[in-house]
Amino acid sequence: MAESKSISNQQHGIHIVAKPIGPRCNLNCEYCFYLEKQALFPQGEDYVMSDAVLQAYITKYITLQPTPVVEFVWQGGEPTLLGVDFYRRVIELQQSFIDQKQITNSLQTNGTLLTDEWCEFLKANNFLVGLSLDGPREIHDRYRRDYGNNGTFDKAMQGLKLLQKHGVEYNVMATVARETAYQPLDVYRFFKEQKVEFIQFAPVIERTGDSHASQLGLKLAGHSALDQEERHVEVTEWSVEPETYGDFLIAVFDEWVRNDVGTTNVMNFEWALHAWIGNPSPVCQHAQACGKSLMLEHNGDVYACDHSMYPEYKLGNIVHDDPLAMAKKSIDQGFGAKEVTLPSCCTECDVLNACWGGCPKHRFSKSYNDEAGLQYLCEGYKKFFIYTRKYLHTITQLLETGLPASYIMEAVKGPLVINLPNNK
Ligand code: SF4
Ligand code: SF4
Ligand code: SF4
Repeated sequence: MAESKSISNQQHGIHIVAKPIGPRCNLNCEYCFYLEKQALFPQGEDYVMSDAVLQAYITKYITLQPTPVVEFVWQGGEPTLLGVDFYRRVIELQQSFIDQKQITNSLQTNGTLLTDEWCEFLKANNFLVGLSLDGPREIHDRYRRDYGNNGTFDKAMQGLKLLQKHGVEYNVMATVARETAYQPLDVYRFFKEQKVEFIQFAPVIERTGDSHASQLGLKLAGHSALDQEERHVEVTEWSVEPETYGDFLIAVFDEWVRNDVGTTNVMNFEWALHAWIGNPSPVCQHAQACGKSLMLEHNGDVYACDHSMYPEYKLGNIVHDDPLAMAKKSIDQGFGAKEVTLPSCCTECDVLNACWGGCPKHRFSKSYNDEAGLQYLCEGYKKFFIYTRKYLHTITQLLETGLPASYIMEAVKGPLVINLPNNK
């Protein structure tokens, strides 16, 4: 297995995801959960991070971080709307600290504004790029559209080709919406054809009337159980169905474990492998606790996480406050104590160590015994983790004995026989 290139790696102290262009984007994807955040800012806001905020962020994030590695993650909206010069300034400011810390940069983009100039810059400065691309044209264009309602596949593909041409390190972030989940191999094989080596699948889950989310914000993000009445909120028609999401991952896994181990890296499988190896999860949704990954808005305001940008979760401002103290405040307020609010079917669950109940924001289903606070995707998660466990255990054994993970492909196909453990 190659080393994970997930841009949500949280292994080094606290983590801050920065949104230097706030919720502004050149696209208008139907399932976007962030564009609506514009309602939280005054009319006429330009959503551009000022140099004063940028300086405060870079200086504090580096100097107050207790670890040798500091990871910068730039997201949006669409962070390339700021132009290359904004990131040249980022690198300039970071330069003052390169003797003290190892500094990395990641950029999450829809890829539609990438140019040769952009990619030369990204390559020269070792940025890891996360490219949002949902699959082949008919799947990508279903929801990823611009303000003129045009599909954006061609532009995103142009971005991919530019990244490849310039040798920029990148991974693809593919969202799995309802219909997408019925075409797992169309999606996966498309990425392989495009020679994408690192893929991450992200389920689309959104409640109907989610401006609604601002009223529910405290409860949704705060990991407390919702009222019974609120629990009946429906999801949007593009939200993935729980079991189908599990089936999607399993279908991709079946192809991967037979043909692609060591050549194509699917982050979702690597996260599960981490669990069975006994490592902490590299992603918040499957970690035992979250709350150390803060979110910085363009105006310097800091929130408990990317999915919790509600007034109740504002922790302070980077210009005036200490990021470590803000993370502590968040945790002291109970944010991130994912384990505490698990329903009993989770605490008794066979795959708890891989799942940890998923993201609390999506714990709005009921368990078989009518208990509140169950993860919406439970059925899919459970199916996926149980199905893949024996294979991943075998990969773990291979790695422990110094053999390459790719031997699993022979074991699965035969004739090489490796004793696959039972589903335990
Ligand atoms: S590209 Fe990303 S930020 Fe922009 S509308 Fe689509 S999902 Fe939202
Ligand atoms: S609330 Fe969800 S998205 Fe936010 S840090 Fe926790 S697990 Fe991650
Ligand atoms: S699979 Fe379901 S029951 Fe098991 S830990 Fe995850 S959400 Fe809970």
